[in-house]
Amino acid sequence: MLDKKQIKEELEKERDLLVEELKSMGKLNPQTGEWEAIPDSSEQESDPNSAADRFEDYEERSSMTRDLGARLSSILNSLKNINKGSFAKCEVCGKEIEIDRMKANPAAKTCKKHLNN
Ligand SMILES: [Zn+2]
Repeated sequence: MLDKKQIKEELEKERDLLVEELKSMGKLNPQTGEWEAIPDSSEQESDPNSAADRFEDYEERSSMTRDLGARLSSILNSLKNINKGSFAKCEVCGKEIEIDRMKANPAAKTCKKHLNN
């Protein structure tokens, strides 16, 4: 039997970490509910090379922000569903997901056997 309280704590811990990380490089768009990277405006240089560097930086942060945001929303989703009967059940075979897998990835939706499905 899965210890839901423990999983919930793990999820909440990871959620807080993700939110912190996201806040350090972006902001939540209240319209879309998605996290967006904010351009670095701390340096005011007109050098086109460093502007290009900053743009690459921004692109990189953008894609990181998107990844972290997606992870955060799957965690929030898991937290919302934690008291439902389907929580921690494999989407493929319907069996309970292994506790060590849930610990490694609290938002896991499949058991180890169906990891890649
Ligand atoms: Zn399965």
